[in-house]
Amino acid sequence: MPLFGRKRTKDEPVVAQEEFRLPEPPVPGPNGMRSMTDHRDYLLSCVDPLPPFGQQILDAVGLTLCEDVESPINLPRFDNSSMDGYAVRAQDVHHASTNTPISLPVVGEVPAGAPAPHRLSPGTAMKIMTGAMLPEGADSVVPYEATDRGEQDVRINEACEPGNNVRRVGEDITEGEVVLREGERLASRAIGLLAGIGIDKVMVRPRPRVVVISTGDELTEPGFVLPGEQNIYDANSYMLAAAAKAAGAQVFRVGLVPDDPERLKQVISDQLVRADLILTTGGVSQGDYDIVKQVLPELGATDFTQVAMQPGKPQGFGLIGEDNTPIIMMPGNPVSAFVSFEAFVRPVLRKLAGLDSWVRRTVQCSAARAISSAPGKLQFARGVVSEAEDGSLVADLASGHGSHLLGGLAGANALLLLDEQTDFIAAGDEVGAWLLIED
Ligand code: AMP
Ligand code: MG
Repeated sequence: MPLFGRKRTKDEPVVAQEEFRLPEPPVPGPNGMRSMTDHRDYLLSCVDPLPPFGQQILDAVGLTLCEDVESPINLPRFDNSSMDGYAVRAQDVHHASTNTPISLPVVGEVPAGAPAPHRLSPGTAMKIMTGAMLPEGADSVVPYEATDRGEQDVRINEACEPGNNVRRVGEDITEGEVVLREGERLASRAIGLLAGIGIDKVMVRPRPRVVVISTGDELTEPGFVLPGEQNIYDANSYMLAAAAKAAGAQVFRVGLVPDDPERLKQVISDQLVRADLILTTGGVSQGDYDIVKQVLPELGATDFTQVAMQPGKPQGFGLIGEDNTPIIMMPGNPVSAFVSFEAFVRPVLRKLAGLDSWVRRTVQCSAARAISSAPGKLQFARGVVSEAEDGSLVADLASGHGSHLLGGLAGANALLLLDEQTDFIAAGDEVGAWLLIED
């Protein structure tokens, strides 16, 4: 018996743990491959938004609101002056002009944050500062500029209508009004509004915690000398960490792990505790050292498949560990990894974060030159989209199709989508694009 084990009072039946399985994956097309949209929808169906938690408003910027927020107060809270000047009854200065100024005794003053000393009697004026509460009896404010700024008596040289320079109670927001809705991503302006109505905490979805791992014996950490001619720098873990961060995630970049099954298993198991999503690159193709594919089934339920897209054909997904943490396993070529991020990871991240639009909008552009594409697969070409003089969008190629072309990827601002049926687009034809706006 273990040292601190409790004594069993009776023999507890051993319950066989039922093996966790992924939902039935989509049926592949006639070419034996899954379409990009089928695979994306499948991944989305396997994850749920993260549970909400209460957060201080300043830490909630960029997060998704999980409640409708009603204003507990009116904004403005009370009738107040929009100018420094004199609170008056409009009817007392109705006929004032430069030639026929009207003089009123000044009977007090109201600075912002102080109540009016008393009610304003007819035929008098009270000094008032911007934001100060309009005294009872007054219905308008004459700005300093329309007076002689008198202290005892004030000469008013401009006529005034009721309501002039007065900000009305509730004209911006009324008490009980829903000012922010569930599902909204909180921008700085919303944070200002929350503070302005006196709310300091809100229920939001947390930033998804994303662990990024790259695999490959050939990889070297940037900043270090490459040990041999056969080595390359690890671009992927940095690129994906940056992309996940830009998409609103809290990122833990673990970096490179060699092609060693035991090491990989250990690293992934250790990371599960702080991950809402794990991303890996490399090791999912048909090569002898493709260890991700080999090891992951030992950690949970997995689905390795071929998606009819280029680049990014081999894809892996799993729900692993005790909490069925999602893991997306992407191919190692940097462009393949980036395209996989755009096609699958970003939508999953947006769903985890509680946003309601998961997928990038496809905008239509006119092709600046002819583009060829492999038929039977959705081709993601790296593009540069710009606005023509008439405001329409024009798409040019940023580089060739090779999935190793990291320089070409960095020069692109869009992915051009050439669908499975298309093998050629002539110059001037329409082509769909995802604009790579990081938000
Ligand atoms: P793999 O998917 O592991 O077969 O890798 C495919 C190609 O991508 C190989 O040429 C790798 O050297 C390259 N590659 C894999 N991982 C990375 C990485 N983290 N950064 C840059 N290139 C990589
Ligand atoms: Mg590899």
